[in-house]
Amino acid sequence: TPRVFSGIQPSGGLTLGNYLGALKRFVETQDQGGIETVYCIVDMHAITVWQDPEKLTHATRELAAGFIASGIDPARSILFNQSQVPAHAQLAWLFNCVARLGWMQRMTQFKDKAGKNSENVSLGLFAYPALMAADILVYHATHVPVGEDQKQHVELTRDIAAKFNNDFGVEFFPLPEPVIEGAATRVMSLRDGTRKMSKSDPSDMSRINLTDDADTIAKKIRKAKTDPEPLPETPEGLEGRPEARNLVNIYAALAELTPEQVIAEHGGQQFGSFKPSLADLAVARLAPITAEMARLMQDPAEIDRILAAGAERANEIAAPILKRSYEIVGMVGAR
Ligand code: ATP
Ligand code: MG
Repeated sequence: TPRVFSGIQPSGGLTLGNYLGALKRFVETQDQGGIETVYCIVDMHAITVWQDPEKLTHATRELAAGFIASGIDPARSILFNQSQVPAHAQLAWLFNCVARLGWMQRMTQFKDKAGKNSENVSLGLFAYPALMAADILVYHATHVPVGEDQKQHVELTRDIAAKFNNDFGVEFFPLPEPVIEGAATRVMSLRDGTRKMSKSDPSDMSRINLTDDADTIAKKIRKAKTDPEPLPETPEGLEGRPEARNLVNIYAALAELTPEQVIAEHGGQQFGSFKPSLADLAVARLAPITAEMARLMQDPAEIDRILAAGAERANEIAAPILKRSYEIVGMVGAR
């Protein structure tokens, strides 16, 4: 059976971008059947930027609750946190020695996150894509559902797999495909239509959190930056209007329509009437998830048990692949 892997960082609370670009699609992949789905809370990625330890613990459990509340069934998918499966870090070291410095220097996420102060960011932030390659390849996963922002990292994963195979003269690692589908592969900030919505954005008004209540969601959408024109009558009219396009795409993804269908229905409307429709839709879709997350968070021990059981299953797949990788490299006593 084909195997899918993807991850989300516990670097803050889940956003609408994470839900539409990742979680919702993870659930669809799981429910499709016939595919082994491995979903990881990548806590080791999160600490590439500073995380307060208590907040990291909380965010990890809350993210697990978010996965389950969105529809991930820990019996049908493997759900766990990365640090419980040491093979990720172990394979990442091999990949640190396969990947080239120049490859890493081209990664736009590193440039965005390091900003102008790149001398003072962690070495881990720079090496992040090699760990991500290990996350995927330690399961021999062939498909990786991600948002648009992660396409470059999955392509680098392919380069690392290909170089490893070539360096050692083996056909060991598959070259995984990024799967980037739907109307919301890149949800933009509500404050700036040219920046991605992110859980680590300092402005809470830039994003909708899965823990936001109905009033907060309505307020954030009402205050979302837009231009003064009404929605265009045709999809082409969204050209050069990033904020309008973003709200249309969000509507489309939540309603399971295409952006064209949303324009056919709402074209010509003022934002004064489109925004309340969007807010109602967002609340209708998210409120049940928010409520279920809160319910699950009342029993953190149960969440920890689910993650430990998932880690055990993940380890069963990862350990033999790691062992074989060590043998290929020539390590004595690989186990
Ligand atoms: P951070 O700001 O800490 O990087 P993030 O919101 O970017 O957090 P990640 O954990 O880095 O979240 O990414 C998890 C998944 O969510 C990835 O598949 C990523 O592509 C997807 N994703 C993140 N932001 C968006 C977005 N704005 N639109 C669509 N998908 C997104
Ligand atoms: Mg990110």
